[in-house]
Amino acid sequence: MGLQANGIEVELVQGDITDQPDIDAIVNAANAELRMGGGVAGAIHRAAGSELDDETRPLAPISPGKAVMTSAPNLPNRHIIHCLGPVFGVDEPGSPILAGCYQRALELADDAGLESIAFPAISTGAFGFPMEHAAEVASRTVLARSGNLQSVRRMRWVLFSDDDRMLHERVFESVLNA
Ligand code: ADP
Repeated sequence: MGLQANGIEVELVQGDITDQPDIDAIVNAANAELRMGGGVAGAIHRAAGSELDDETRPLAPISPGKAVMTSAPNLPNRHIIHCLGPVFGVDEPGSPILAGCYQRALELADDAGLESIAFPAISTGAFGFPMEHAAEVASRTVLARSGNLQSVRRMRWVLFSDDDRMLHERVFESVLNA
């Protein structure tokens, strides 16, 4: 389906964040130590191997809402942007911290002159954010920030299940087409 925000293409797909070969930067739902974990961080670190740990070690720890960029060893992408989302009900205020993750990731990609970026649903796994709430934060941040981007022309959300994709489609459509 073709959604747009300020002329930027917004795609919502079901899939695996480590299998997005046509995207410049993939985003990691990282932990503060920027190490292997469960979920997205597990999949990315497993695919990238120890070369990624060598790059992330000196950058850690990061705080909620922050993002850092590395190369993407053994992955088809140019970069990985590691975002630490808020833990639901713990890192408060959760919505602005989560919005900060998306905003900083977009800024890092844009400053690096990248054309495309793919996100997972940050904070909706181990960190406990309700999927709908997180999708609202993500889509509102896209709407608010996409007008300032110079090089990013394409954003993709990669949802692990088709239910999550359909939920994102509904929420993004209502926010971006409002
Ligand atoms: P967080 O700790 O920020 O909550 P998780 O990695 O636990 O991050 O989960 C974030 C979301 O990513 C969840 O909705 C989960 O289902 C989904 N997910 C898990 N593995 C993958 C993957 N390989 N690709 C895309 N999404 C994934």
